[in-house]
Amino acid sequence: MQPAIFLDRDGTLNFDYGWITSPAKIELLPGAGEAVRLINESGRLAVLVTNQPVIARGECTIEELGTIHQRLVDLLGEKGAHLDAIYYCPHHPKRGIAGERPEYKIRCHCRKPAPGLLETAARDLEIDVSRSWMVGDSERDLGAAAAFRIPGVLVASNQEDFKGDILSDCAFRSKTVREAVQRILIDIHSA
Ligand SMILES: [Zn+2]
Repeated sequence: MQPAIFLDRDGTLNFDYGWITSPAKIELLPGAGEAVRLINESGRLAVLVTNQPVIARGECTIEELGTIHQRLVDLLGEKGAHLDAIYYCPHHPKRGIAGERPEYKIRCHCRKPAPGLLETAARDLEIDVSRSWMVGDSERDLGAAAAFRIPGVLVASNQEDFKGDILSDCAFRSKTVREAVQRILIDIHSA
């Protein structure tokens, strides 16, 4: 069984431009390609886990989300990196937006901070959970890590934005996903 490093998408691998509804809005953050390549070379799985309420909001179809993810895959490929799998939550719990898709407006078990995406990935890919990590830029990512009982790393270029509980929940903080992955791999090897 292989361990995984679970990665959030917006704000972790690519610039967070709010709700991303077209492939043109996918632009890799500095070091993101190298971070994923380091995971690939380490023999661990690189698994994307992302909340995409744009589907529930009716701003983006599943097919369009596919083209957005293809753009991400292509940009990572240019850096010699690949994702082993992509899991997304299309749901959102709150109703009342014009054009929303009611079938996705549910309370689900996959929207982070729930651990559903990680659980499904672990089952599908036979992941060694005991040696896996989660890297993301939000409280929801760290919550999902905690719910799944794996260490979480907070990536934030502006660390002052975060205070209180979120900081005690994370194993460590890092300015970029590349730094986060480098440190995870060092910690694993020195353990
Ligand atoms: Zn969901």
